[in-house]
Amino acid sequence: MKQKDLLYTGKAKSVFRTDVKGRLIVEFRDDITAFDGGKKDNLKNKGSYNAEASAFIFQFLAKNGVKTHFIQMLDPRRMLVRELSMIPLEVIVRNVAAGSIVRNYPFKEGTKLNPPVIVIDYKDDSRHDPMLNDDLIVALKLATPKELAAIKKAALKINALLVKLMAAQGITLVDFKIEFGRAGKTIYLGDEISMDSMRLWDKKTGESLDKDVYRFDKGDVMATYNRVVKRITTTASQKKERAGTTGTSKTKPATATKPKAAVRKPVKKSPGKKR
Ligand code: C5P
Repeated sequence: MKQKDLLYTGKAKSVFRTDVKGRLIVEFRDDITAFDGGKKDNLKNKGSYNAEASAFIFQFLAKNGVKTHFIQMLDPRRMLVRELSMIPLEVIVRNVAAGSIVRNYPFKEGTKLNPPVIVIDYKDDSRHDPMLNDDLIVALKLATPKELAAIKKAALKINALLVKLMAAQGITLVDFKIEFGRAGKTIYLGDEISMDSMRLWDKKTGESLDKDVYRFDKGDVMATYNRVVKRITTTASQKKERAGTTGTSKTKPATATKPKAAVRKPVKKSPGKKR
């Protein structure tokens, strides 16, 4: 497998062609941006942390019947993927009110959203990713009603799986953004799922474990990403092994942590529309 020309470069990833038809390479760069690109930095190792988290999550989802573009990691920051024709939708699933819905609607930050709320934005930086509704999505021919139903169903399934995965590590999955694409008639989950695209709160402390640390200068961004990736990718059984415990241990599994009310201190308001 040889890496060929650059096909596309985004704010934090570059996509390359390969010498194999239908296969692309996604490179996770160390660039980090927020507020529609209004805040920018390059943070050492960020690309590999996000690549590792994404690869782990894609594999976990695939094991649970979700079709994803992930094939394999080529090195710590390069992922071999199935080529998709991307659908320009940002599908956001929210379990707890935070971020833009708190700014734009009368939700109190930390309010649980049950059932989860799906918000779909039009992926277009020049228009600041405006929110869509089903009629607009169909009228703009971004997806057929059948595809839209399949996308929402997949988004809710992914949410249920990730909520459980994170809860087992003592983390609340507040919200996340995913993107889908087509290969033939099949819709696959594409892009990434990482600390850049999820909002994660520590269940015990309420601490942010995601890009909000960067957005709102809440601390050492890379130390947080490093800790989170270790936490997410370490399974409960590995934790037990590391602690030298067996099934007879009195140590409570992480899943036994009682979820605290998802209420937190108000965050510093930042300039710009969002993200
Ligand atoms: O900013 P907002 O609250 O709408 O973001 C919701 C979730 O979607 C957050 O986890 C955020 O990181 C993610 N997101 C993203 N890329 C965008 C917009 C939102 O990853 N362009």
